This record gives sequence, C-alpha cells and structure tokens, in this order.
Amino acid sequence: MTTDRIVGIDLGTTNSLVAFMQGESPVVIPGEDGLNLVPSVVALDENNQPVIGSSARRYLIETPERAVYSVKRLMGRGVEDVQEELKLFPFRLADDLQPGEVLRIKLGDKTFTPPEISALILRQLKRNAERHFGGPVSKAVITVPAYFNDAQRQATKDAGRIAGLEVLRLVNEPTAASLAYGLDQKQNGIIAVYDLGGGTFDISILKLHDGIFEVIATNGDTHLGGDDIDNLLITIALDDIRGDMNLDLRRNAEAVQAIRKSVIEAKIALSSQASAKLDVELRGGRRYQREVTREQFEQLIQPIIDRTVGPCKQAMKDAGLKPEQIDEAVLVGGSTRIPKVRALVKELFQREPHSDLNPDEVVALGAAVQANILGGGSVATENMLLLDVTPLSLGIEVAGGVTDKIILRNSTIPASATQFYTTQIDGQANVAMCPRASSAAARKRKSKYSPATASPTSRSRA
Ligand code: ADP
Ligand code: MG
Repeated sequence: MTTDRIVGIDLGTTNSLVAFMQGESPVVIPGEDGLNLVPSVVALDENNQPVIGSSARRYLIETPERAVYSVKRLMGRGVEDVQEELKLFPFRLADDLQPGEVLRIKLGDKTFTPPEISALILRQLKRNAERHFGGPVSKAVITVPAYFNDAQRQATKDAGRIAGLEVLRLVNEPTAASLAYGLDQKQNGIIAVYDLGGGTFDISILKLHDGIFEVIATNGDTHLGGDDIDNLLITIALDDIRGDMNLDLRRNAEAVQAIRKSVIEAKIALSSQASAKLDVELRGGRRYQREVTREQFEQLIQPIIDRTVGPCKQAMKDAGLKPEQIDEAVLVGGSTRIPKVRALVKELFQREPHSDLNPDEVVALGAAVQANILGGGSVATENMLLLDVTPLSLGIEVAGGVTDKIILRNSTIPASATQFYTTQIDGQANVAMCPRASSAAARKRKSKYSPATASPTSRSRA
C-alpha cells in the first residue's frame, strides 16, 4: 500500500511527533530512544554535526551557545517581529542582521534560518519513520497553529522542503485534534479543542456532522503555555538563590538551564503528586533545594492559566454558542495534564473534559488521519471530510496602501476568488509587489490574533 507512506507530523514548539495510519487507527512512531516525543531542540556537536531531540538537551546546559529550542516562535518572522521573543528566550541571532532580512540563528560559529532548524527536526522524524517502515518516506501532512499567518505557514512548508518532504497539506492543530477525536467517537456535535502546550494556547470550536469537520471559531494567545509556568518558577528560584545564598545567577545561562530542568521535573511531578522538590546543584558544591506543594503551585500558576479564559469566552461568543451548547471539550497539549487546568476547562465548558486521547499525541494522530484521507483513505476514514477556515483575511494591497480583502477570514478553504483591478495612471506598464507585507501584517497582529467571526455570510463552501 502506498498510503502508509504519507506521514502526519506535529511540528511543535516544545515537542514534535510523527504518526501514520496503521490499519484503521493512527499510531505514533517512536524514535531510536523508544520515546514518541522528540523534543524540538537542535544542537551542534563538537564536530559541527547537528544533534536533534532528547540527546540535544544536554547541550542546552553544557554549551547553551550551541543549542536552540522553541524555534517555532521565530518561523516566518522578521527581526522587528521577534523583540519580545528575544527578551524571553536565549535566541542568539546572527550579528550582521539588517531590519527586514531573513532571521538567522547562531549555533556555535554557524548560522541557520528558523526553517533550516525546523528542517533538522523534520529530518529526524522522517528518519524515524523510514526506520520504522524500512523504506523511504517523502510525503507529509504537517500541523500548524490556527493563528499562523501566511509567512509562518510558508516557512513551515519551506522547512518540509529542506527536509526532503513534500508537504501535501498544512492542517491547523486543533482541527487535527478534532480529526483524531472524530475517529475515536464518530458522534455529531459541537466540540471545543483546548490546546495548552509549551509556548502557545489555542482554543477552537468545531462542528462535527456526518464526518464533516467544520471550524466555526478560533482564538488563543501565542505567548501562553507551559514555558510561562517554567519561567515563573525559574524567577522564583533565582530570587530565592539571590536572597538566601547571596548568589546572582540571572546572567549565568548554564545555571538557569539547570534550574529550568529541575523546575520542569517538579512541575510534571506535581501533576500526579501532592508535592515535589526543586533540587539544583550549583557551582562550588552548593545546592539549591526547595519543596513545593501542589497547593502552592496551583496558587502560583492561577494567573497564567486564567489567561486562557478570555480567548475561550471570545471563541464561544464568535461561534454564537453558550457553554451548555458545547457537547465535548477535548484536551490537547502537555500542559493540560495539570489537574488545575483540567478543572478550569471543566468550569469553562461546564462538563468533564474528554481525556481518552493522549494530549501529547492527539495532534500528530489527527495529522496521520488527514494523511490517510489524502492518500486515498481507508474504511476508518471514508466519509470524513475536513473543512478548515483561513484564520486571516487575504487580499492585495492597492493604491494608497489599503489592503483590498478578497477572501475574508473564516472562509472555508480551499477557497478561490477573482477580482479585476485597473492601473492607476494612464499608460502604466507595471505594478509594484510588496515583499514585506506579510511581516508587516505579523507585526500588526502582535501576540494575540484577532477574534474570528462566525457569521455564515463570511464563510462559503468551496
Ligand atoms: P507544544 O505543542 O508546545 O510542542 P506539548 O503539547 O508537547 O507542547 O506540551 C509541552 C508542555 O507540556 C511543556 O511545557 C511541558 O513541560 C508540559 N508538560 C508535559 N507533561 C506535563 C505534565 N505531566 N504536567 C505538566 N506539564 C506537562
Ligand atoms: Mg502542540
């Protein structure tokens, strides 16, 4: 069969996964280490050879100047778009970057564009799949956040191409999650997909009817996720260390990474335990230790997780729905393993969230379902149709710097439209293209994306 060679990929900010349809159900393909999740970390070893995933993690601590993580934040963005990111993440950009130039990240003494770094992760996933199949894999469906603009989507496709993958389709992450859910449940209704990962939060409201998946509203925050929890705990630890031990480690990248490792371990432990211990070995045989109870942890993170409430309410408003009209809330993203987050989702949608699907894997599994549909389908996926929408309006810039919208946001894709324009001046022989339009659009959008409207007139079926 040829269809099993199209893989589904979740190219995540924190973790990436590759999956495929085995018989009638999607499965994740593990890496050489036996783990399904490949951390989205890339490093250059002593011989300038790339190291990807869990083995790249130790470089974050030992030689942080040779490692990079969360590169998805830089995809399709210009120097001026990423200032906020630069304050929060230890990205080292190439020294000679000019405004408007393609971003390049320094790893050791080499530089890479964000799609080149993402391609290294994709190539690793491709290799894992090839090892599993014992043959070449050259086609993929890759998921992207619903809010990704055109430049960010294009950068993701570029990454696929660099990795030697033909990207058959980009699918919005929450849509992919609902596909996996739909396969599991096969029920009609309205579902809310609540995705809290490492770096981003997405909420999508979808309608499932007779195998058709229709996104009716999306919202979220591009700067919200488990990273915020980690950063908060790191700040507290650094303050503790400064106060109690008279040591200022804020500018010590190695120490900060060691603290990061410890707080993440404690955070994960607190999802299943009542308390956890921070334990960091510092230079000179000194040690920072602190016990954190789940109650303290929940109090600390409350303001962070509360930031998901606004986007959820907005999405429900845009969809014209009340919580009681939502039939199911599906949890996606590693951070939804936090009991307090689950409690919040329960309160928001007034029902116990659906947690049968592994929140770390559900997006990749859905991508595999979509890959299977594109490859000709199977018994499990026949009659499934994915209707996705464009999260942003698309148009062209006309005289006076005004964008004439041709396809309105929330239009079902694929969509096509034709519009005739005249030249502005008599005898005009050419028109100017605006190469930086997408980056300007990204700047305007800042971290929050505009709420989606759900009016039926703005959507048309293609
Ligand atoms: P992304 O979509 O950004 O790649 P994931 O869905 O893989 O992210 O989620 C990664 C985030 O989930 C990280 O911040 C990680 O620390 C967090 N996480 C994973 N497992 C747990 C857990 N058991 N408890 C709390 N947080 C977790
Ligand atoms: Mg994710």
